Amino acid sequence: MASQWEPLLGTADIAEPEVREWVFVENQARALFSRYGYGELRTPVIERTDVFVRGLGDETDVVKKEMYTFEDRGGRSVTLRPEGTAGVMRAIANQGLAEGEERRVFYMGPMFRGERPAAGRRRQFHQVGVEAVGRAAPLLDAECIAMLLHFLEEVGIADGELLVNSRGTADDRPAAAAALKEHFTPHLAGLCEDCRRRFETNVWRMLDCKVEGCQEAIRGAPAIMDLLGAESKAYFAAVCACLDGLKVPYRVDPRLVRGLDYYEHTVFEVVHSGLGAQNALAGGGRYALFLPGSDRPVRGVGFAAGLERLLLARASLGQAAAGTPGMDVFLVSLGERALAASQLLAAELRHAGLRVLAETTGRSMKAQMRAADRVRARYTLIRGDNELDGGTVLCKAMADGVQTPVAAGEVAAWLLARLMSG
Ligand code: AMP
Repeated sequence: MASQWEPLLGTADIAEPEVREWVFVENQARALFSRYGYGELRTPVIERTDVFVRGLGDETDVVKKEMYTFEDRGGRSVTLRPEGTAGVMRAIANQGLAEGEERRVFYMGPMFRGERPAAGRRRQFHQVGVEAVGRAAPLLDAECIAMLLHFLEEVGIADGELLVNSRGTADDRPAAAAALKEHFTPHLAGLCEDCRRRFETNVWRMLDCKVEGCQEAIRGAPAIMDLLGAESKAYFAAVCACLDGLKVPYRVDPRLVRGLDYYEHTVFEVVHSGLGAQNALAGGGRYALFLPGSDRPVRGVGFAAGLERLLLARASLGQAAAGTPGMDVFLVSLGERALAASQLLAAELRHAGLRVLAETTGRSMKAQMRAADRVRARYTLIRGDNELDGGTVLCKAMADGVQTPVAAGEVAAWLLARLMSG
């Protein structure tokens, strides 16, 4: 039985040393995205529900089945964000975006979806993502994709596979949807319940079904590209040419549609062999997203990568950030006077930039030395009444056990000289 201290199903505590992996990846993201002119945006994790319903489309699985939605105290429907784009668009609309102006933002943080937990699939998961909003051009799409691959490289994942496709524009949809329906009609009876529902509500999503029994019908479906108009085909060809120009390797996946309805033109995903069944590391595309109360869509291109999956992929490649480092110094204090004096010395050493722990409860010498070992202190500083009366500190190098008495006023300089030289 689960202990009462375990976090909710599908959520996790992220502690040392694993949290260092997270910080490493987040720092790489911050540094890299800013090289491409993206600035950070932090939106609330909770939004009015209609931001997502209108933004993502009410027929998407995320909106239909996975959102954490509830009434707040004022009776308003609010939702924990299941993805980042809709909130970012709301924030940008709130700031105001002039016609023709471009805004580049990145975000990172927790997202919430009520999915069945599995390896690489959680209910609270974390994404880093970017949005380039306000302009539409094949070059921009290609640059965004190239930046995603650059980011993956920076975090040590150079062997992801990039899949690209096009969803065309709203003008292409009716004819394309009709062709898909025509293809699926004779197969319907043998397909899963979700597929039969999607056949009526959003036939594109049938291509996204992962149920084994539906795969044969999906494999036989027409390639989306063949169902699109000339303008969409030309746009996609231009994106591919830009990717070629940037020497970005990719594979056209003719049935890639992505889960959310707001996409138009370019869609892409990076999959990784180290992830198992949930093999998508990151996904994105060009979109036209509607905000509540507006009939004019906001256009942009972006992607989101799952942090948990980035870490799984890194682990599968044997990559890991350094573990928790040991402390520089542990202060062993014998007696009340030493305990008090050592708090002051600890403060001085911390101000000098050292990582310091000091005894606080006056345990036995043996217990304090064990504590110094546990935190992997490189030096243990020992003081009792004798040292205090003599104005010295006994500095013990833990690597070789050598003990050196050092004048109290010179301890910081003495330690710095040794710790900084290796
Ligand atoms: P999506 O927009 O749904 O494709 O999500 C983008 C990325 O977020 C995916 O490629 C995954 O890396 C990650 N992701 C999505 N859902 C989950 C989840 N439930 N648990 C962990 N990671 C997820």
